[in-house]
Amino acid sequence: MSVPKADSSEQLPPTVDLSLDAQGVDASGQLADTVKTNPEEGMALRHAVLDIPPKDEPRLAYANWLMFTGQGEQAEFIRLQCRLAECNTSPDHRIGQECNCETCQMRKRVAVLLIPRTAADWGEVKALESAGLTVPAQLVTGQLPYVPGGLGLQWVRGFPARVTAPTAVFLKIAEALFRRHPITHVTLIDAEQYLWTENRSTGEKHYWLNVPGKKIWVGTKGPGGTERDSNPKEFSRWIQEGISRACVVRGRKLAGLRV
Ligand SMILES: [Zn+2]
Repeated sequence: MSVPKADSSEQLPPTVDLSLDAQGVDASGQLADTVKTNPEEGMALRHAVLDIPPKDEPRLAYANWLMFTGQGEQAEFIRLQCRLAECNTSPDHRIGQECNCETCQMRKRVAVLLIPRTAADWGEVKALESAGLTVPAQLVTGQLPYVPGGLGLQWVRGFPARVTAPTAVFLKIAEALFRRHPITHVTLIDAEQYLWTENRSTGEKHYWLNVPGKKIWVGTKGPGGTERDSNPKEFSRWIQEGISRACVVRGRKLAGLRV
């Protein structure tokens, strides 16, 4: 795997060798000496995952580290979900369809590995509770849907990526959450009651989340933009995406990650 020269690679710790394959061996079949088993190495690799959520390479490098520190199940899970993310776009393999092909076997294995017990462990739920989480943490998958009131965590490419929560809960643990997981999507189930609209004389409408201690900008609709009343479905989709973007930016800033 080649590492792009773009700015996305600049902040990776210098000891991280992204050329390793998924098994952690180099081309000569030797265990790569850049794979270390000390905790600092693990933290650096984990930070690389947080720093560039869209990239698979840091995730696979972290999986290698997990493998060499005896955390083989989690390593296998990350590798499987990264491979499955590529298969999921195949029209032959929609969720719910099942045959005995490699993709379906990987899906079954993922379902065996990611259960509430491992999700609590890999999702570092105890640390989130220490940070103030007072509602149940839930694993959200095809079989286990979000139950309103809790903290829903959905795993994508090996890590919690999609969060669903009441606004007050999210605000309380946002920093702890983004320090641990490469979160890319946030759904606030009660955002509507915090939504604040600013009408400009130009006809523009600015939307904010007016939460305790902070006004978080969500987005702007120009004159004639799809409105809440004329097209509620379209408006709801737009505002949900805006809220998610605003929450991800807020969480990453709080956690000291670049946005
Ligand atoms: Zn299949």
